[in-house]
Amino acid sequence: MAECGKLAGCPFFNLDESDPDVASVKRGLMLLYCKGDKVDNCVRLAVFHEFGIDFVPKNMMPNGMPLPRTDESEWDVAVVKFKRHLFLTPKMVTPE
Ligand code: SF4
Repeated sequence: MAECGKLAGCPFFNLDESDPDVASVKRGLMLLYCKGDKVDNCVRLAVFHEFGIDFVPKNMMPNGMPLPRTDESEWDVAVVKFKRHLFLTPKMVTPE
């Protein structure tokens, strides 16, 4: 099973689980991304590689969406555009 190399310092992975909605979404996405097959598709990682750690929104989930009951209003415009570009760009398929 894949595991992200950024687990220890990642605000998403280390989210407080006292809010049941946050705990639920965290557990699901953590199994898919942080400790799962979609680790290479984590949008937090993509933003980190493109812009640097200071641009990764604290409330961004690995699927690129904001945490429950939060929004993108404080995200850098370049990050929002980049995320939309990621969602609109079909994944490259490598021929076997
Ligand atoms: S949210 Fe992304 S960067 Fe953070 S631990 Fe999970 S896969 Fe890694």
